[in-house]
Amino acid sequence: EVNGDTSNGKIKKTLNIAIIGGGLVGSMAALHLGKKGHQIHLYEYREDIRKAQLAKGRSINLSLSARGRVALAEVGLEEELLQHGIPMYGRMLHDLNGNMTFVPYDRNTKQCIYSVGRKKLNEILLNTAEKYTNIHFNFNRKLISARFREGQMEFKDPITNELHKATADLVIGCDGAYSAVRKNMLSTPGFNFSQSYIQHGYLELCIPALDGQFAMPHNYLHIWPRGEFMMIALPNQDKTWTVTLFMPFKKFEDLKSACDLVQFFDENFPDAIPLIGEKRLISDFFSLKPQHLISIKCYPYHISSKVLLLGDAAHAMVPFYGQGMNAGFEDCTILSRILDNPNVQIADVLKSFSECRHQDAHAICDLAMYNYIEMRDLVRTRKFRIRKALDEF
Ligand code: FAD
Repeated sequence: EVNGDTSNGKIKKTLNIAIIGGGLVGSMAALHLGKKGHQIHLYEYREDIRKAQLAKGRSINLSLSARGRVALAEVGLEEELLQHGIPMYGRMLHDLNGNMTFVPYDRNTKQCIYSVGRKKLNEILLNTAEKYTNIHFNFNRKLISARFREGQMEFKDPITNELHKATADLVIGCDGAYSAVRKNMLSTPGFNFSQSYIQHGYLELCIPALDGQFAMPHNYLHIWPRGEFMMIALPNQDKTWTVTLFMPFKKFEDLKSACDLVQFFDENFPDAIPLIGEKRLISDFFSLKPQHLISIKCYPYHISSKVLLLGDAAHAMVPFYGQGMNAGFEDCTILSRILDNPNVQIADVLKSFSECRHQDAHAICDLAMYNYIEMRDLVRTRKFRIRKALDEF
């Protein structure tokens, strides 16, 4: 067991911090702040993910890139994580005839991003946090009301319906795109908030392993760009692929029968049918509902010295830039660095965070929106340039 490092004299006061949400960003924030010696109480709505079944249809894997890796390195977990990740060196584009074209991310240094499992990543973060005596877990605790200025919170156990009260010096909302913490901030004068849903939803399918091996070349992010819609696939450690179909809701609704679906795939993703398997395609497609995609901006991310938002709670974005989690992890790095300044009061720390973070976070939200068009459309029209890049790779 380890306790937070207070030996560098940088922490003037040990804070009692409540982190709401024990997802990827909440558990990463717990580690960054716990490492500094603060008393961390993590409250998570759901049961402990380490004991839970995988939630079907909820982005099983994610791409980890530089921003996320820096935050992992700072808590000593980068190497461990990369061992569980699969490098992807570029996009592999599938055309209508099933031909594949490789588009490298970086033909000079051969940089890559990694496909990592959401559950594995969350488990590693929680297992590491659990080793700190000053990090305390509270699962099955849904924040239902709060008076942040007084540092008072009320939680409900979703299984027993019991109510629990708690207090904290600082409350950090890492409770995702539909953040209860953020909702509580909406009536604060000067707090700006906007959200937009896009007309497209997503649905996750699966390409199983083929004779125990990957059914497609695996060091790539596979994309079937089709203009108005697209499909992507990221590799998993167990040699399967998580396939995500992004499409206007209207188009999902038009596919009413197995026949409609197979015909649609036959016209648009013919090479994917044997990979997924017709039977599995039909059963997976009709057992899931397409999910909404939301983009959220707000500012500032804090109120006085009492509340702060991180991750999707602060800046949820559409997933097309693969940066939601990475940007949330970067929030933790930035907050941690500001906290390292020994002469700053906590209210100023939070203010500095809001000031230095919001423009970049808003920019990533916008880039993510732009990359939707890039991925589903431009990758096709720029093919002649891509071919040139390939020749040089
Ligand atoms: P969440 O993961 O939403 O976690 C919030 C946690 O708070 C949850 O555990 C929830 O149970 C808990 N909670 C909610 N309300 C309460 C409450 N009232 N009380 C207590 N707890 C509560 N990002 C990438 O970087 N790379 C990718 O490749 C990528 N791909 C994606 C693909 C898809 C299809 C989608 C939808 C997203 C993708 N993202 C990706 C984005 C990424 O999933 C999010 O940015 C990331 O999960 C944000 O983490 P978070 O901890 O802020 O929020």
